[in-house]
Amino acid sequence: MMAGQRHDGLTAEGASAPDALARLAAAKDAAEAANEAKTRFLASLAHEIRSPLNAIYGYAQLLERSEGTDPLAAARVIRRSAEHLSSLVEGLLDIAQIEGGALTLAREPIRFPEFLDQLIDMLQLQARAKGLALVLDRPPGLPEFVNTDPKRLRQVLINLVTNAIKFTDQGTVTLRVEYRNQLATFSVIDTGIGIAPADAERIFAPFERVGGERPGVGLGLAITQALVHIMGGEITVESMPGEGSCFRVRLMLSQPLSPPTDPAPAAGAVTGYLGRERRVLLIDDDPAHLTMLRGLLEPLGFQVHDASTGARALALAAEVQPDLVLCDVMLAGENGWDIAAQLRRRHGEALRIVMVSGEGPLSALAPAALPANDAFVMKPFDFAVLLDVIAAQLELVWLRVAGAAPAAAGAAPSPRLPAALGPQLVAHGAEIARLVRIGHVRGLEGAIDALAALTPEAAPLADRMRAALDRFDLAALAALAQTVAADAE
Ligand code: ADP
Repeated sequence: MMAGQRHDGLTAEGASAPDALARLAAAKDAAEAANEAKTRFLASLAHEIRSPLNAIYGYAQLLERSEGTDPLAAARVIRRSAEHLSSLVEGLLDIAQIEGGALTLAREPIRFPEFLDQLIDMLQLQARAKGLALVLDRPPGLPEFVNTDPKRLRQVLINLVTNAIKFTDQGTVTLRVEYRNQLATFSVIDTGIGIAPADAERIFAPFERVGGERPGVGLGLAITQALVHIMGGEITVESMPGEGSCFRVRLMLSQPLSPPTDPAPAAGAVTGYLGRERRVLLIDDDPAHLTMLRGLLEPLGFQVHDASTGARALALAAEVQPDLVLCDVMLAGENGWDIAAQLRRRHGEALRIVMVSGEGPLSALAPAALPANDAFVMKPFDFAVLLDVIAAQLELVWLRVAGAAPAAAGAAPSPRLPAALGPQLVAHGAEIARLVRIGHVRGLEGAIDALAALTPEAAPLADRMRAALDRFDLAALAALAQTVAADAE
């Protein structure tokens, strides 16, 4: 194919013989360089696959001989190796998609400051688990909306911040965002181990890792760079060993000419839920994962228990009678599906079971005949996705911080409510407004009851809301909900 192209080009342009020779030579060099790069890539790939595979193979043989091998330790190595291999496969699929041109960019207006806040919220626990501060540094005047592909931009920033956390042992990781003349600059600054100048270029190539023993497959930056390039931007790094690093991404993010007519309503962060306290049992042998989930769920008002083995989980479940179980699929030396099946037998259908795993849902470990679980979440998960799954399983109605909804003009004044309940009232008002927006009548009944239960002073307002709901006058209900939030502020 290359030869044909060269030939056509030459005849069509009528190039002179020396020109033609020079171009032939250049094309040959380029083809050879591409081939060499491919060979290097495949050699590195084989190496990357071989090391974890060797570990799995070796430990499996040791287990077969069962001579003095600690099965838990072996299972842990095998699991880590399997996880490494699966991240490798995921990374390769990403690269194949990008390089194959199969990746199409979306372009949609996003609420820019909120997008950044949510991203940082999501990564906060990861940073905290390592004792690091994670800071979002953004000027107050960022545009409210910019056009971009939110999924890809999020992927780029998550990769950089996750790396910064991984390669930093103490101090701070900062995401600094600047915006001028449609040009957004994202700087991810850490106080970590840094990178030698000689390595600064090659870390963007696949499988290039210079960070010592820290986990990783060396594809993150290659993917990040490819994404930034197809988004029309550039990525650079400044770093010194021992002095931290700064990865900088520059992207043109235009502002919509007029604010989107129907922007997705700003769903405020979840702060809790309506109704009685729910009990959650976490089953995972990875303490970091348990800490992370506990850190997510406890502040929302869940009673959280955890267990790192099946036996402990079963005993604890008998004791606390959880409403929901989040169960890891591969525990050291144990199969999460078996634990789930036993829990199902003992606690019946009322117990909701969500399996959490780095493996796909069609994992060979899943017992084909007996899917004991109610839902499946893949690691790493977006907290919002996990919360959606939990809400669906437990039929929960979330309380959220109030969005920036303007107070309704002309709404009848509501009775004054106790100032001490301010934040809770704002949250209830916002939740009711949200349920009105999605027309969730059954949810509204519950939310109004919950508002009434908050304080006797709220009863008259709740009555007016119920009357509006009975008339199906959602506009009046929305106005009443907004007066709650405004009144409490
Ligand atoms: P991985 O993190 O899986 O090893 P990446 O492609 O994301 O792969 O990164 C490649 C290498 O670049 C890392 O192994 C590390 O040596 C270096 N690196 C990336 N980010 C940082 C950082 N913030 N501080 C120090 N080194 C880094």
